[in-house]
Amino acid sequence: MSDFHRQESAPSDRVREKAREKVREKARDKLIARLKSAGIRDPRVLDAMAATPRDFFVDDVMRHRSYEDRALPIGFGQTISQPLIVALMTEALMVKKPRRVLEIGTGSGYQTAILARLIDLVFSVERIEALAIVAEQRMTALGLTNVQLRHGDGHLGWRFEGPFDGIIVTAGADEIPEALMNQLSDGGRLVIPVGEGDVKELKVLDRIGDAWQQSTIEYVRFVPLKEGVQ
Ligand code: SAH
Repeated sequence: MSDFHRQESAPSDRVREKAREKVREKARDKLIARLKSAGIRDPRVLDAMAATPRDFFVDDVMRHRSYEDRALPIGFGQTISQPLIVALMTEALMVKKPRRVLEIGTGSGYQTAILARLIDLVFSVERIEALAIVAEQRMTALGLTNVQLRHGDGHLGWRFEGPFDGIIVTAGADEIPEALMNQLSDGGRLVIPVGEGDVKELKVLDRIGDAWQQSTIEYVRFVPLKEGVQ
């Protein structure tokens, strides 16, 4: 293509990109309105979600659905979590104003990126290497430098970097992994979908010395927390 043609095509590309950005903004506003009407109140959480482009965390074929309040496939039989569940879990975690948080199940990196806007240091473990690699690229592209990712089995937590004052598990566990309880600081909070069967209890566990206080905030479906790495 000649330089003349290249210059000719540039303005229309810009116009198209601007139009796309408008559509994205509208869809994002609608999603935030939905989260509010579903009971999400914490302005920090709503702001972090509004500032995080979910379309960036899904494959091209799913992009047109990225602002629906649904889980969407991200490959390898995994999903990017439903925004309302992300908001609920983040809101529960933020009650304790944590500074160092461990996430188990990086997946697309969407929840990780939201946490990175709210918390000083975010650590996240993913068992599928290919997902961990793409998530790392996304963090770099978004300039989120307060995130550390690792390919590994989240059942073991991240002992070297612990203890954490918040831990969030974004895959459904049959039972609460002991290592995660051990790596939570005194006064810290663990948010985890747990239980037998497909529908899990979204539990909040607060550590007070050697005692634990538990509550259930919701019943949810999650892809399973699996043993080992892939
Ligand atoms: N927060 C992610 C959720 C992805 S789905 C997002 O919104 O995109 C859950 C993720 O947990 C999957 O990527 C799955 O591979 C991962 N996972 C399952 N078991 C795991 C384990 N034992 N350790 C680390 N990650 C695990």
